[in-house]
Amino acid sequence: MHIPDLLARISAEVADEVGKGSAADYIPALARVDTARFGMAVAELDGTVHGTGEWRQRFSVQSVSKVFTLALALAQPGGDEVWDRVGREPSGDPFNSLVQLEHEDGIPRNPFINSGALVVTDELAARGSDVTEELLSFLRKESGSPGIAVDEEVADSEAANADRNRALAYFMASYGNMRMPVPDVLAQYVRQCSIAMNCAELALSGLFLARHGVRNDGSRLLERSQAKRVNAVMLTCGTYDAAGQFAYRVGLPGKSGVSGAILAVVPGRCTVCVWSPGLDARGNSVAGVAALDRFTTLTGWSVF
Ligand code: GLN
Repeated sequence: MHIPDLLARISAEVADEVGKGSAADYIPALARVDTARFGMAVAELDGTVHGTGEWRQRFSVQSVSKVFTLALALAQPGGDEVWDRVGREPSGDPFNSLVQLEHEDGIPRNPFINSGALVVTDELAARGSDVTEELLSFLRKESGSPGIAVDEEVADSEAANADRNRALAYFMASYGNMRMPVPDVLAQYVRQCSIAMNCAELALSGLFLARHGVRNDGSRLLERSQAKRVNAVMLTCGTYDAAGQFAYRVGLPGKSGVSGAILAVVPGRCTVCVWSPGLDARGNSVAGVAALDRFTTLTGWSVF
C-alpha cells in the first residue's frame, strides 16, 4: 500500500464532505473556526509520517486528550484502580450528559465522555501530578515537537463557558467521586482539552496504542493487556453516542474531539489522525469519519 497515494485519493474522495456540519458552538473560540478545512496523517510503527491537506495545522485536541490522560492514569502504580471510579460501557448519551450519573451513584459510564475524563483527571491530580504538564511532556516526547503547548485563547474561552462540566464535577463530588477540589480539577481538564497539536503530532503520540503499549523510545507505557483495553474502550466509547455507527463505518478504535479531530488506531500497523471542524449532531467530524471510512475500505485495515 503506497500511503501517500492513498491519502491523496481519500482527500479527493471526501472533498464533498468537507465543510458539512457545524463547528462546536458552545465554546466561542471553536465556533469561529472555518469548517471547510481538512487534514489527515498516518504514522507508521517506525515513526514515518505521511500527510495530506492541512496535516501540519494545529488545532485544540479537545476530547482526544482523554485517551492520553487515561493511558497516563493506567500507567501509574496501581493505575487500574481508576476502574473503581469509572465504567467501561458506552453511554448512548451525549458526551456532556448528566442523566446517567444520578442513577449510577456518580460513576461515569466510561472515561471518554466528559464526566469520565473529569474523574481520570482527578485521579491523576490526586496522585500529585500537574496533569497538564505531565500530559504536555508525554505528547512533546512522543511527537518530537517540544513546542506543543496549551492554546491559551481556547483555554480561556472554554473556562468561561464550563458550566456543564462544572455541574458534572460537582454532581460527582456529591457522590464522593471527586478527590480534589472541583475548581482545580476543572482548570486542569480545560487546559488539557486546549492543547494545540496537528494531525502528525497526534498520530505520532498515539503510536504506543498501535504498538501494544510501547512508546516511541522503546520503553513501555502500558502492559499489552492495558493497551488492548484502551483500544477496546476507544472502539466502544470513543465517539460517544455514535460509537456503534463509527464501528460500523470505520471498524477501528477511535477517539474524537469537538475541534473536529479523530485519532484512530490500527493495532500492530499504524495510527491515523484526521481533522476537519464540521461536526455532526453527535459532535464527530463529518469529513473525518468519512475519511476514516474510506481509509479502512480502501486498505482493509480494520480490526474486523
Ligand atoms: N472540552 C470539551 C468539553 O469539555 C471537550 C468535549 C469534546 O471534545 N467532546 O466540552
